[in-house]
Parts: sequence; structure tokens; C-alpha cells
Amino acid sequence: MPRSAHLLGSGWDRLRGAILSVVCGTHQFVGDRGRWWRERWAQQRKGEDCVLCGRSGIDEDEWGIRVFTGEAVDGFAWKTGLIAGYVVAIWNGVHVAEPTQLASAQAAAYWREVTRIGRAVESCFEPAKVNYLTLGNNVPHLHTHIVPRPWSGDPGPNRALDFAYLDAPRQPEVQVRDAARLLRERLAET
Ligand SMILES: [Zn+2]
Repeated sequence: MPRSAHLLGSGWDRLRGAILSVVCGTHQFVGDRGRWWRERWAQQRKGEDCVLCGRSGIDEDEWGIRVFTGEAVDGFAWKTGLIAGYVVAIWNGVHVAEPTQLASAQAAAYWREVTRIGRAVESCFEPAKVNYLTLGNNVPHLHTHIVPRPWSGDPGPNRALDFAYLDAPRQPEVQVRDAARLLRERLAET
């Protein structure tokens, strides 16, 4: 695209963003390419309708099986993603979207317990690498995906994993139950 056309597009996107912000009051302009965070994102980031806030009493649902209950973190063997040993660690206190919203003692407890789960994942599954994904772009409640990257069968060795690989598929039932049992036993020893 010629530079002039790019600038024209960018200018139009900015103008459209300004108009929609005024008219609708719901969208947030986020850059030159005219991409938008979804409607009511700001409210969700503050905890409105948060699907993870009420999770502290759940031991198992369609998404995961509890393997750890800590001072700051609840850990679940996650049922999606195909990779054995995939755990989602969820901040179990009052809603925050970012680790920077925690007091320093809370943040220390959060990362201490995330790494404790990470050690159990390493010990049980002996992966080539472990990834810690603190994203929250879809569900803005502080949580960290702990993803062991297997030596064989990894869909993208030596690079970041496409999140779709973690999201859409479901692990075989027996695989996730075996992983949950192993992780619970290992975490009980540490
Ligand atoms: Zn929440």
C-alpha cells in the first residue's frame, strides 16, 4: 500500500473512532488499524460479569479439575488444549485484571504459588519447556496458563504456541484425570 493511502486509512480510522466514541460511548479506539476491544470491555475488566470470580468453591466443572488450593491461587488441570499437564492458575482473591493491581505481598504470593505449580508440572511431565501465559485478553481476571511443551508432538517447537491450540480442542478424559491425579499428589508433597 502506498504510504499516502496508509495515512488516509489511518486518518479515517481515527475519525471513525472519534465519531463512534461520541455517538455510542462504548468503544475504545486502540490504534491506527481501527481495531476495537469488545463492547463493555472496560466494565468487564473491572469485574462485571466475571466468570472467574465465583470459581473458588468449584472442584470440577466443564473447564477444569482442581489440583491446588493456595493462599492466592487456585490451580486447575485444564480440560482443553490437548497437552497433558496444562494447568490454569487463577487468582482467588477479590477481582483484579492485572498483577500490578495486587499489593506486593499478594503479588509475591501469586507468583510463588504459580511457580510452585510450575515445579510440579515440570516434575510430573518433564517437558522441553514450560510457558507461563498471563494474558486475560478474553477473560480479564488475573490468571496464568501454565503450559508444558512436550518433547514430541508439540505443534510449534521453539516458538510461541497459537492460543487456538490451547482453547478449542478437548483433552481425552482419561488424560486430564491422570494429569490431575499426578499433579495433586506432587503438589501435596511440596
Ligand atoms: Zn473476576
